[in-house]
Amino acid sequence: MSDEFDIIVIGSGAGGGTLARTLAASGKRILLLERGDYLTKEADNWDPAEVFVDGRYISPDTWYDSDGTPFQPQIHYFVGGATKMYGGALYRLRPEDFGQLRHVDGVSPAWPLSYDEFEPWYTKAEWLYQVHGSHGEDPTEGECSRQYPWPAVSHAPRIQQISDALAQGGYHPFHAPCGILLNEADRPESWCIRCATCDGYPCMVHAKADAEVIAVRPIVGLPNVTLLRNAEVTRLETDPTGRTVTGVVVDRGGDGKEEIYRADIVVLAAGAANTAKILLRSASDAHPAGLANGSDQVGRNYMFHNSKAVSAFGEQDNDTVYQKTLAINDFYLPAIGREWPLGNIQMLGKSNAGAMKGEEPHLTKLVPHWSLDEAAHHAVDFWLTTEDLPKPDNRVTVDNDGNIHLDYTNTNESEAAGLYEEFRKILNHVGLAKHHVLHKNFYMSMNIPIAAVAHQAGTARFGSDPATSVLDVNCKAHEVDNLYVADTSFFPSIGAVNPALTAMANAIRVGEHIADRLGVSTAGDAAAAHGASAIAR
Ligand SMILES: Cc1cc2nc3c(=O)[nH]c(=O)nc-3n(C[C@H](O)[C@H](O)[C@H](O)COP(=O)(O)OP(=O)(O)OC[C@H]3O[C@@H](n4cnc5c(N)ncnc54)[C@H](O)[C@@H]3O)c2cc1C
Repeated sequence: MSDEFDIIVIGSGAGGGTLARTLAASGKRILLLERGDYLTKEADNWDPAEVFVDGRYISPDTWYDSDGTPFQPQIHYFVGGATKMYGGALYRLRPEDFGQLRHVDGVSPAWPLSYDEFEPWYTKAEWLYQVHGSHGEDPTEGECSRQYPWPAVSHAPRIQQISDALAQGGYHPFHAPCGILLNEADRPESWCIRCATCDGYPCMVHAKADAEVIAVRPIVGLPNVTLLRNAEVTRLETDPTGRTVTGVVVDRGGDGKEEIYRADIVVLAAGAANTAKILLRSASDAHPAGLANGSDQVGRNYMFHNSKAVSAFGEQDNDTVYQKTLAINDFYLPAIGREWPLGNIQMLGKSNAGAMKGEEPHLTKLVPHWSLDEAAHHAVDFWLTTEDLPKPDNRVTVDNDGNIHLDYTNTNESEAAGLYEEFRKILNHVGLAKHHVLHKNFYMSMNIPIAAVAHQAGTARFGSDPATSVLDVNCKAHEVDNLYVADTSFFPSIGAVNPALTAMANAIRVGEHIADRLGVSTAGDAAAAHGASAIAR
């Protein structure tokens, strides 16, 4: 195999996978380097005990918190990255998220692009990832140039009841955007049966619109695309001026034996923590504080959302299988009588006894009348998200042994508390607070600790000022001429909706920019021409 390519992409998740697929049609020689392997299709994919209790698909990495205490981050190294486990909730940020937004703990900074400028790539990403939804239902969303490719996934009867009750109460529930492959006719070998295991589990039938299925599988096998699995990038080398990346150093198999690959353009998309790690470990005489880190911003401004998972228990059974169809943004923005933005409320994947055992075993003991199975059958599950602010001291650093250290303190706690208060009112309104077994308000809930790095972002933000940002508006490093970053590291702020669609949209945008720079076209879908059967493998 040659070690010379036109473009090297590091990481095959939402950012890297999508960018590689965007550029595949250009004919340029692309090397996709992924530290993980394909996630094996096996019965355990859908086994809550394996997934939630034993953490079968979580990497064995050890990271350290600000006190130096080790912890195992909930991070997933596979072809497709974190999207192998994600819930496929593919939301756009609100237009206000692209501007400056005041929060109780500070200001969420403006992006160097407006929502309207970014919008065309949201549409492209929604069509690439085959999102089901209904633009126009959520009063907080921005203008959309095109409707979703597929209609919204219909609510199960219990969720429809809740949606109706919310609407009657003056709330504005909407159908959540879902990245699942429901179109049976197009996918005879593997299509979504709307099972309960979409959120937090890998999809055994490859019917979740994740980055492996949508972006990587379809391009692997094209003559101009090479995927190297189990290939961990350890650092980037530059020429003596530091302006050009000349080598991508790879450890294959963890035996310390290095291989070096070269390309005209290098795109880093290893996820926010690992992208920062690679840049920091690439320090040199030309970049003493880490590659592209003259601003001292690499690794800083780490965000991951102030989130809560909550299960509410009513007397009524909840027979829902696919539950992630409903959301409300009524508290997303400030309003009359509410000074601060509070965030988004959406449904989680349906809980089951096995997963509940793994999540919060002590809480389930508080429902003595029910077995875990009965409790799970009554549960209605929600996910509450409040924006987390980019703070310079919330940061990723790397020690001499290459270990990641994560310093992190929550922001906007009182906004998160405000959202929870509103949520409790909602539960009262839909009858979920009154009819639980303990005859007083009681909800199972868990706060997600620092190890929950699923929504990590912000460690190499883009901006127009090289003194305060790592990347320019095209996500090229200010200080390096051929280095781009295309994962969630580029976020200057994270908003209060799930980040993957924004990473995918941005990756398409950056991919098109790189194609323009190289004088090639991304038109035509080489992946589709290559054959959709690659998807089902
Ligand atoms: C359980 C779970 C549920 C989620 N649900 C949702 C959801 O419903 N909606 C949503 O929007 N978001 C969701 N997310 C978050 C979403 O998956 C991430 O925001 C998104 O995948 C981030 O994209 P990325 O490209 O930055 O990183 P990733 O998708 O993680 O990709 C990074 C890739 O880089 C690889 N890599 C890392 N280090 C190296 C290295 N040194 N060398 C080579 N390769 C490397 C990794 O293995 C990985 O494949 C969820 C995440 C999890 C874990």
